Amino acid sequence: MNDDATGKEHVIEARGLTMRFGNKTVHENLDFDISRGEVVAIVGGSGSGKSTLLREMTMLQRPTAGSIRLFGQPVDALNERQRMVLRQRIGVLFQNGALFGGETVLENIATPLQEHTRLDRLLIEELSAIKLRLSGLAIEDGLLYPNQLSGGMRKRAALARAMALDPELLFLDEPTSGLDPISADALDELVLQLKASLGPTIVLVTHDMDSLWRVADRVMLLGHGRLLAVGSMTELAGSRDPLVARFFSGPRGRAALAAAGAS
Ligand code: ADP
Ligand code: MG
Repeated sequence: MNDDATGKEHVIEARGLTMRFGNKTVHENLDFDISRGEVVAIVGGSGSGKSTLLREMTMLQRPTAGSIRLFGQPVDALNERQRMVLRQRIGVLFQNGALFGGETVLENIATPLQEHTRLDRLLIEELSAIKLRLSGLAIEDGLLYPNQLSGGMRKRAALARAMALDPELLFLDEPTSGLDPISADALDELVLQLKASLGPTIVLVTHDMDSLWRVADRVMLLGHGRLLAVGSMTELAGSRDPLVARFFSGPRGRAALAAAGAS
């Protein structure tokens, strides 16, 4: 795996990454690295291509040009079996949570274990229960169906499922969107606990300024088809670049900055 001068192992390396739909360019020539154990947030206006970038990094969408390495492996050179092996090291929480409606929470969490491991049923049940507890849900909640859950509980259940195989790399697309502030805070707390305990590399898309201050080691701002800025929140919030400043110093940005300063 490629290490840079800082000696950090890169879990994701993107070079010249370009994505077009028809004649519409979503992004062009993106270069970035994400190191093991980092929590990196992808931000940008609606339609700036955050979810698309996540789909490229999770091998769900092939970029029009450029390359991505995951764990040092060039994904476009891999065959389907090799990709499958790689997918087992990756957890994804999709923007819309997407739990299977016909299965209980525990069954939802068990699914990746049934599909990708040869563990016996009892062990799968035990592991699913552990992930459920880790996500902050109670064992009784595991017996409920997705339509019986609140928005916050649904996100937790989806996170538990994304964590089922103990991924080294976890992608979260807007994990706090649509949640009330208390549930959103609790989800941020959960991400911080995950980081402190299992230490996966986490790439999350968020609009939530409070989350950014609380959980992100580094932020990548997408806009105009480019990476407008990459850095810590402190660096980006102090940027003099008008495009960057506009994003971070609107009313919500200022409120979050004040809250971060006060805590
Ligand atoms: P974001 O997550 O930042 O809101 P998206 O990544 O969902 O943005 O979308 C970025 C742009 O790419 C949008 O203009 C969207 O309409 C377009 N887009 C995304 N997926 C497709 C697709 N499969 N076909 C055509 N256009 C797409
Ligand atoms: Mg999106």
